[in-house]
Order: sequence, then C-alpha cells, then structure tokens
Amino acid sequence: MFSYRHAFHAGNHADVLKHITLIATLRHLMQKEAGITLIDTHAGAGLYRLDGDYTETGGEAKDGVVKLMGALRAADRPATAAAPAIDDYLDLIANFNPSGALRVYPGSPFVMHHLLRTESRDRLKLFELHPTDSRTLSANIAQLEAGRQIAVAREDGFESVKPLLPPPPSATGSKRAMVLIDPSYEIKSDYSKVSACIQELVRRFPTGTYLVWYPVIPRPEAHDLPRRLRTISNQAQKPWLNATLAIGQDPTHGPEDRPGLTASGMFVINPPHTLKGVLQEALPQLLTHLGRGRGKSQSIESGG
Ligand code: SAM
Repeated sequence: MFSYRHAFHAGNHADVLKHITLIATLRHLMQKEAGITLIDTHAGAGLYRLDGDYTETGGEAKDGVVKLMGALRAADRPATAAAPAIDDYLDLIANFNPSGALRVYPGSPFVMHHLLRTESRDRLKLFELHPTDSRTLSANIAQLEAGRQIAVAREDGFESVKPLLPPPPSATGSKRAMVLIDPSYEIKSDYSKVSACIQELVRRFPTGTYLVWYPVIPRPEAHDLPRRLRTISNQAQKPWLNATLAIGQDPTHGPEDRPGLTASGMFVINPPHTLKGVLQEALPQLLTHLGRGRGKSQSIESGG
C-alpha cells in the first residue's frame, strides 16, 4: 500500500496543474476578511529536493516545473510574460529557491502555508499516512514554528476530514473551508473513496470549496471519477469546474518504453467565479510550454 512516494513525482506536469489551480483558488478565497480552514487530506512530505536521490533534475520535474521555469524565467533572457496564474505559481516556487537554481519544490502543504494569513485567522490541517513521509512532513512543518495554526496528523485523510466539517465559525461568524483531496490512487479503492468522501463532505458542508486531483489514464475507475463528481455536484446543485492537462507522448520514447503519467485533471466544486477565466488563460500556455507530442490537449468544462 505504501509504495507511492510523491518525491519521485514532485514538480511534474500534474503538480503544475494541481498547484496552479490551488493557488488561484486560494488567492480568491483569501480576498475575504474572514478566516478559513484549509484541509489537505493527502499531504505528502511537504517539501521535496529536486536535486536529491528521488527527483534529480532528470526526474519528472524536468517535464513540469523545470521546463516551465526554463521557458519563462531563463536566467540568461528577460522573463517572458505569462498568464498571471502561471507567474503567481512561478513566483511562489522561486520564493523557495532564493539562489535562483531550482532545488526545492514545495508540495501542497507549503503552497497553502505560503498563502495563509499570518494573524492566524486561518487554520491548516494536514493528513499523511505514510510513516516516513508523515515524519518528514511533521519535521518540515515544525520548522515553520506556526504553532496551532497548522496541525499534522498521521491519519487516514478520507476519514479524518469528515468531523472537521462544517468548520468552526471565524471571528465574523462565517464558516469557510477549502479541502484538497489528492490521493496517489495506487489502490483501486481510492477512486470510490474519493467520490464517497466528496458526497459526505458536500452533505456536511455544502458551501465548502473542494478540489480533487485525478489521473487521466485508461482505467474505468479513473474515467468514471470526474463523471461521478459532476453528478454529485449537480445533485447538490453546486457549481463545478473540471480542468485537464495532457502533455502527450514523449517523442523520444520508443514503443517499448513505459509512457508514465501523461495527463491529469482537477475537479473543483464551488470554484471561485474567477477560476474559469484564470485557467482559460493559463492552460493554453501550459500546453505550449509543457506539451510534447501526440495526445497533448487541455480542456475546461464547468456547470451548475
Ligand atoms: N498533496 C501533495 C502535494 O500536492 O504536494 C501530494 C500528495 S501524494 C499525491 C499522495 C499522498 O497521500 C502520499 O504521500 C501517500 O502516502 C498519502 N496517502 C495515501 N493514502 C492516504 C490516506 N488514506 N490518508 C492520508 N494520506 C494518504
């Protein structure tokens, strides 16, 4: 069960899509004064070395953040203008790499922490089950000295998120929460767990913003997941948005090479009204810079 380690995949094209969507969503949610509860059900280790044993710069990041940064922020050329959501993402990554070389990649807990408001109005709850990754996550978070603003637990995120919703009221009395569900899908049951979890969360707290990452792979459960999430949103009469990015096949790969993950999606329930426009500007540019070969595409659908 614990064979998946996000360190091998950190900064790949799927992380680029996921974290751009996450940052754009949070930027909008943080415009309101009232505090918000952020929950990351599958948090990972928090920080990843792009020059370490798992993810040398030859790893998956080279087809993701490394390529994007190289295309838009090469040190020997003036920065190329990009969609604001891409610039925002690259600025955030650059913040973790003050020397200019891309050595560290922030996972979702650190992306979220970066956008938390310091006066501790906001709360961040992180769940990670892997024994090593949860230890690393706790150690990484401890360095932030964020006190009670951030809680880390080695628990099943699918279950532990439920009692957290609805969230406690903020000082102004409003209840606000955003949940990121980002499993590894290494076991088939993750697909049905995601839809069951979302169904329960939307029932408990219909006004929450829910972000689900999923792989686009030729597997019936993977194909069904966005459809199920759309049905849940429509039945609850909640707006939704579904964005996908497929970088296509690597033209240098032969037929016997394993293609690896080439496409993924982000399904958002109760998205900020600005998110569609923001992604409509960003996704074509992501495809230009990250697209490789046959099968490359991007899409955004919305409803509700
Ligand atoms: N959200 C992270 C990010 O964007 O940086 C990446 C998370 S990674 C895709 C999925 C993580 O979920 C893995 O670290 C895995 O160990 C962990 N995991 C698997 N099943 C879990 C569960 N039921 N509850 C909490 N964590 C789980």
